[in-house]
Amino acid sequence: MNESALRNAETIASGIVDRFALPAPAGSIEPYGGGLINATFLVTAGDARYILQRVNDSVFPEPERILSNLSVLAGHAATHAESKLRIPALIGARDGLSFVRDGQGGFWHLMAFIPNALGLARIEDLEQAREIGRILGRFHVLVSDLPVERLAVTLPRFHVTPGYLERFKQVLATHATAHPEALSQAIACVTARQAGVGVLEAARRDGRLPVRVVHGDPKLDNILFDRVTGRAISLIDLDTVQAGLVHYDIGDCLRSCCNRRDGPAGAGFDLDLCRAILVAYAEETDGLLDATEIELLFDAIRLIPFELALRFLTDHLEGNRCFRVTERGQNLHKARVQLALVADIETKERAIRGIVAACFKGGETGPRDRRF
Ligand code: ADP
Ligand code: MG
Repeated sequence: MNESALRNAETIASGIVDRFALPAPAGSIEPYGGGLINATFLVTAGDARYILQRVNDSVFPEPERILSNLSVLAGHAATHAESKLRIPALIGARDGLSFVRDGQGGFWHLMAFIPNALGLARIEDLEQAREIGRILGRFHVLVSDLPVERLAVTLPRFHVTPGYLERFKQVLATHATAHPEALSQAIACVTARQAGVGVLEAARRDGRLPVRVVHGDPKLDNILFDRVTGRAISLIDLDTVQAGLVHYDIGDCLRSCCNRRDGPAGAGFDLDLCRAILVAYAEETDGLLDATEIELLFDAIRLIPFELALRFLTDHLEGNRCFRVTERGQNLHKARVQLALVADIETKERAIRGIVAACFKGGETGPRDRRF
């Protein structure tokens, strides 16, 4: 979502919120949080607070599906009260629907605000890393008996890396061939690694990997911690909960949490954080993953930041339609950071495979030649 779309959403938010079934009239409505995809507002009504969001419909083709999935998930979570995972309650519209459409076709929903919680800008210690592993594991355990067919596909081909590569190539082909230095370098990095981007999808297609319900976007920003206890209490941003591979989630979580941003190109994969997250995840999920899932974890850890680099780079070339930027060239810069992270992960392959093997007692330890 770009700045003008965000300002536009801000102008109409107050007219929208009154159409939800709030117990008290809405008071203040303020832009909230650092999300890049949707327009998010904090609403105060009486003593209560809510999160109002306008779904980015250039990202999600059928936003109704998000609401359908949220209610399936909430219903499922209600049958697993033991899960200790907070799923924000949805507030319906006065007309009985679970969302409100604005005059421009925009799609809005409202949910309860999770109080006394905060997101972390970066991980400060290993206990926080363990909390992250635990909450992701808790989420996967929670949805492990939710049949994938009950969830609609909100974002078709999300995390299907070969699709992002294809799209990147198409967009690149429409651009001039002479590029600024930084862009040329990024393109060269992508080109050097393109073979093998289908490693997870091939395994999914062949039935070697089970399709499970996944979060889709469990990066650090989407984990809320209790202000007092420091425990991870909620995985938010549930727009992309749908059928997928656990690899998408583990890869996305690790690339976001373990990037110390202190390498020469603003990236460095922290092995201690990786170990802490995976140890806690493996304990929490206790045998949920099968041997092939474990075997392909390293590939996921390398592939998902590569995929994100492709997405940032494509968006940069397309004029930042998907990821909001606050300065010129920001998506290119983010792509370069992810590519540097991929390069660092590759140098640490043996160590990462060792960590996976130790955590799950079944992964492989030896590095392989294959590069994607
Ligand atoms: P985006 O898809 O744009 O990333 P998110 O759903 O992650 O949007 O929401 C943006 C931010 O709003 C989050 O990073 C978080 O700070 C805050 N937020 C979202 N939902 C809630 C909630 N239910 N309770 C408290 N804060 C929330
Ligand atoms: Mg978010």
